[in-house]
Amino acid sequence: MTYCSKCGTENEDNDMFCGKCGQRLKQPEETKEPQPEKASNEIELERKTETKTVKQKSVGIGILLNFIITGLGLVYTAEYAMGVFFILVEMIVSALMLTYPEFMISGLMIWVVAFIASSYLSYISIVDFNKKSKEE
Ligand SMILES: [Zn+2]
Repeated sequence: MTYCSKCGTENEDNDMFCGKCGQRLKQPEETKEPQPEKASNEIELERKTETKTVKQKSVGIGILLNFIITGLGLVYTAEYAMGVFFILVEMIVSALMLTYPEFMISGLMIWVVAFIASSYLSYISIVDFNKKSKEE
């Protein structure tokens, strides 16, 4: 037996409302705690995997950035000093190539060497970075 909280009338256990005054006797059974708890756990898991994938860096992006501007891939891997050095080299070489046409071939050779060097350094830095972020 359940007693109405409003008028005190006796009602059957499975009655949802008081037979006399219509007061709600108990909350419907379906909506209980476990469901939202599970959902929040899932969200937490998702968040964890999300930060893990964000932490990983792509070698392809690093090399592509170096191809666009030599040294940009190093900035991407947070090797700022080296990145700025290569960007300066690229700017000087480009300026020389534009001012002196005879510098074109040697300028291109310097650019290729700088591109390979900065890509190699980016590659090492990215592999190292990804290894460290996996261990965390
Ligand atoms: Zn009642």
